[in-house]
Amino acid sequence: MPRKYPIENLRNIGFIAHISAGKTTTTTCVLYYTGRIHKIGSLEKGTTPLDWMIQERERAMTIMAAATSCYWKVGGKEYEINIIDTPGHIDFTAEVQRSLRVLDGAVVVFDGSAGVQSQSETVWHQADNFSVPRICFVNKMDKVGADFEMNLKSIWQRLSENAVPLQLPIGVEENFSGLIDLIEMKALKFEGEEGSIKKEFEIPSEMKDLAMKWREKLLEKVAGEDEILLEKYLSNKEGITPEELRSAIRRATIKCRLFPVFFGSLYKRIGVLPLLDGIVYYLPSPLDLPPVKGTDPKTGQIIERKPLETEPFCALAFKIQADPYVGTLTYFRVYSGTLKKGSYVLNTTSGEKERIGRILRMHADKREEVEEAFAGDILATVGLKNTLTGHTLCDENYPIVLEKPTFPEPVISVKIEPKTKADQDKLASALKKLSEEDPTFKTRYDTETGETIISGMGELHLEIIADRLKREFHVEGNLGKPQVAYKETIKEVAEAEGKYIRQSGGRGQYGHVIIRVEPKERGTGFEFVDAIKGGVIPKEFIPAVEKGVKAAMEKGVLAGYPLIDLKVTLFDGSFHEVDSSEYAFKIAGEIALKEAAKKAKPTLLEPIMKVEVVIPEEYFGDVLGNLAARRGKIEETIDRIKTKIIRAKVPLAEMFGYATDLRSLTKGRGSFIMEFDHYEEVPEYIQQQIIEGKLK
Ligand code: GDP
Repeated sequence: MPRKYPIENLRNIGFIAHISAGKTTTTTCVLYYTGRIHKIGSLEKGTTPLDWMIQERERAMTIMAAATSCYWKVGGKEYEINIIDTPGHIDFTAEVQRSLRVLDGAVVVFDGSAGVQSQSETVWHQADNFSVPRICFVNKMDKVGADFEMNLKSIWQRLSENAVPLQLPIGVEENFSGLIDLIEMKALKFEGEEGSIKKEFEIPSEMKDLAMKWREKLLEKVAGEDEILLEKYLSNKEGITPEELRSAIRRATIKCRLFPVFFGSLYKRIGVLPLLDGIVYYLPSPLDLPPVKGTDPKTGQIIERKPLETEPFCALAFKIQADPYVGTLTYFRVYSGTLKKGSYVLNTTSGEKERIGRILRMHADKREEVEEAFAGDILATVGLKNTLTGHTLCDENYPIVLEKPTFPEPVISVKIEPKTKADQDKLASALKKLSEEDPTFKTRYDTETGETIISGMGELHLEIIADRLKREFHVEGNLGKPQVAYKETIKEVAEAEGKYIRQSGGRGQYGHVIIRVEPKERGTGFEFVDAIKGGVIPKEFIPAVEKGVKAAMEKGVLAGYPLIDLKVTLFDGSFHEVDSSEYAFKIAGEIALKEAAKKAKPTLLEPIMKVEVVIPEEYFGDVLGNLAARRGKIEETIDRIKTKIIRAKVPLAEMFGYATDLRSLTKGRGSFIMEFDHYEEVPEYIQQQIIEGKLK
């Protein structure tokens, strides 16, 4: 059976935004206008972050699957739009990362009264890393403080100078009433039920000059990024047709050279219809993007796969979600080839074969069974046993491993105890399930203390986990005090020897290695180099040395935290014909690493958070002082009407209890968000306290 929609008519997109910018509401409006839901509903919601998250989850789950398909007609052609869900809270960076990995284009939603907020900045840069083409939607133009130029300046300064408005708002704040389309040079109003009818008018006379000015800027900018348009711009500017202009914007947007900006208000139901057209006009189909890259699991060679049905099948599993009706759903994105229901695929990450039972396309209102999946599709399947987030599924005759999405390491951990003894097993299996769903959530059983430790990206992340345990798995856990996930690293180069030699009768043990350790840049991880010459250590023992080194790194040398960011070169050693074994070399590797790291000026690292605090201006001084007392480095303060925004970098260790402090400092009127930024060396005097505390 051929595919229903040609691949050119496919758009795999996500909405990304700062918390509360209007992502959920935009999605709701899109699903309404595309006929997948029957009402938009009210726009109210709770206030505290936890309540908010639970509500969002519930709300999002009722309207959105991890990927929801809808359809939209532009110029007489029907397009399939797959919306990949992205989380609303930054503690869920991993979710943003993994959705960015599988989508082809994104709509970045802004709060028009606030300009660019910190999370938008973060997701924007993440999208830069994945080269995701973007369009911007400045929402809430009805709100006090909303301002066309303020938003543009904010986007230009903080995100990209290549953002270019395709529209002008008509009126502002409560008088915001429509848009001017700078491509067609028409005024737009939205009428009918929930603004579902777009009407075109002449541009109001008092706005003509302004519209001409911005049209000119638009032409100039696009011509600067697209040679085809440039030619026409220079020879016959007046003759540029809307189609030519749109094609040029499309080409430049797909190359991430331009970021078209749209405006609207979801409250007033203004702007979503042109935004939907914009998704089709300017965001790429899978065919517009470079082929996906992976490696041959046997040879390690790089392989490319084009989004064609004639190529061998390969797909990435990007989300595992428990579904109340069908069990565990595995969402996957097909990069090449086709997949028939009932066939077998190879999971090259786990090495297991899996049978694809049912294939489902998820809509907001129903799930649809499909017989076959095609390149570019985003679908779900049920009943996979050994497939987790980030695993590659492919044709077993043409194995490929797609690059795994990378996830940040958890920065915070906490002890969790079951409420009753009887809950112990239930708790363990629920935690296992949750960690399979969410790669930034880890769970570990400490055999020495008999404690279960869970770790994640922030306090809120772990609170949500505890809440999900209760609601979805019906098991309650008591959380202990959150602890910072410190790391250790080294600052100098050092060499050390590791010997594990036992020769007392019978077969002995003989492992002997000499290694060099060198510091690496933050975030670059571990590297092991085998520089053994002349077989002084036989090849078969070298992986054991690496294993030993890694085992020793797990426990660190200062306070038991894992060592990160170092290069280890194995360059000398010796062996014994009879007594050498993998075991002996592993132990020798461990001994050598510990010795070398101790000599290499080891130091503690702590997670530093990016914090954004929004407060009424009268509390500015107090809040600033409080942040400074928390070892915070203030990076920027921004004035908005009667409001101040403070951006700072603060060690996570100092942020515990901040919500309570901020509440009392601002009589409950301040709010903040934070997310992990980077690891940094802990100041000397605090290192000592941590090490001593740990050793007590
Ligand atoms: P999300 O966190 O990005 O998913 O944001 P939501 O869609 O849940 O919206 C956040 C808040 O903004 C809600 O309280 C909405 O009622 C409100 N909101 C959404 N759109 C608009 C708008 O166009 N104008 C105004 N004034 N408020 C809006």
